[in-house]
Amino acid sequence: MKCIYCNEEKEESEFSLEHIFPSALGGKSIDNPLFKTREVCKKCNSLSGLYIDSAFVKNFFATMLVPFSKYLGYYDFEKSPHIPFAYIGFVEYIKHPEFEFCEKWLWIDGSMVYHFHNNSSEDFNTIAGGDPRKRKNKYAGEVYLVGITDNPFWMTLLMQAYNKQFQKSKKFFVNYMLPDEVKEKLPAINQIQKNICEEIYKLHKTKEEQKHTLVIQENFNIRFQAKLALGLGHSLFGDDYTQSSEAKNIRDIFWNKDYKELERLKPEMLQFFSEPKENLSNFTQYISFPGCHGLFFFVVDNSLIFYADLYGEGQYPVLTVITRNLDSYSHALVEEYPEGWGYILVPQRDMFIGEFDIASILAYNTGDKSSLPELLELEKLHKSKEELPPFNLKGKEI
Ligand SMILES: [Zn+2]
Repeated sequence: MKCIYCNEEKEESEFSLEHIFPSALGGKSIDNPLFKTREVCKKCNSLSGLYIDSAFVKNFFATMLVPFSKYLGYYDFEKSPHIPFAYIGFVEYIKHPEFEFCEKWLWIDGSMVYHFHNNSSEDFNTIAGGDPRKRKNKYAGEVYLVGITDNPFWMTLLMQAYNKQFQKSKKFFVNYMLPDEVKEKLPAINQIQKNICEEIYKLHKTKEEQKHTLVIQENFNIRFQAKLALGLGHSLFGDDYTQSSEAKNIRDIFWNKDYKELERLKPEMLQFFSEPKENLSNFTQYISFPGCHGLFFFVVDNSLIFYADLYGEGQYPVLTVITRNLDSYSHALVEEYPEGWGYILVPQRDMFIGEFDIASILAYNTGDKSSLPELLELEKLHKSKEELPPFNLKGKEI
């Protein structure tokens, strides 16, 4: 078999299932062969997960959107969902004598976690939590939680999130009183840890201005976009696409580690964090579905463009050219939807809706809600902030 990322021939046993749309963004909820492939070798699968997907998914921008956008309202709160912490960056105003780094995380109610560890390097300082391979006890470090909520409903979810996200780290509670049977299960606290707790507690009492350092890799999206184009292009058009000269160029971008050179190649992959260019700009503002990932394929002239509106509302948009020579290929979907087609992904509910044509979502968003009854049903599941239980029952700060 030939791998679509490295283009090398390898034994069948060297291949594994690749989620073209990353699991960390909800790829596992996608029930559609377009977004999965078995034609990626294990080596490329793990390399792209580590250096390309992680850089895109585990950074400040992406983690902030989960708890602080309309995305939150689609969780099924009756099922005690895992609501992750958002990433704030490195902290230098508290020093732990045993650990070099401290990263800070924020939960929906304002609760904070200080994570002390030794797992960072120049290669991984843009990825929240450091090298994803080093999550084992030895590297997991210590975490300190400053809780804000006193509502048992939110406290339960907060504890679950704390436990899940920092699974292997030693956990401490700066300001919550724990029941004795829980305390017994926790590691005994030493003088250093006691001091850290007191220092953090004092900091939160005085409410002094706190500075955080964020490290952001320029053009961190380009290689991710190249991966999407290669994977989706292959799912749609097979080897005709993978062996074409434009796929070869995209493969060069995929393997390019020089971020300055990626700057030059950026226009090829279109824009990110900016108003989409060309005649797409009129389109994109009408097709978003706030709180969910919108995955759209546009046919524009002789091009096929993939537009992922991550988290909805155009806050984290990815616009990628799959091909500029659409007439060289054929696929039933392109025949069926001459302007394009799309899907709505709701990982919070393990839902994947579609496919539907671009025209019907345009109609839906401009008033004709009957054009997509499934989306109308989905919207009923959304809870606004006002409908959710209050964080604070006693009406005073803890
Ligand atoms: Zn490969």
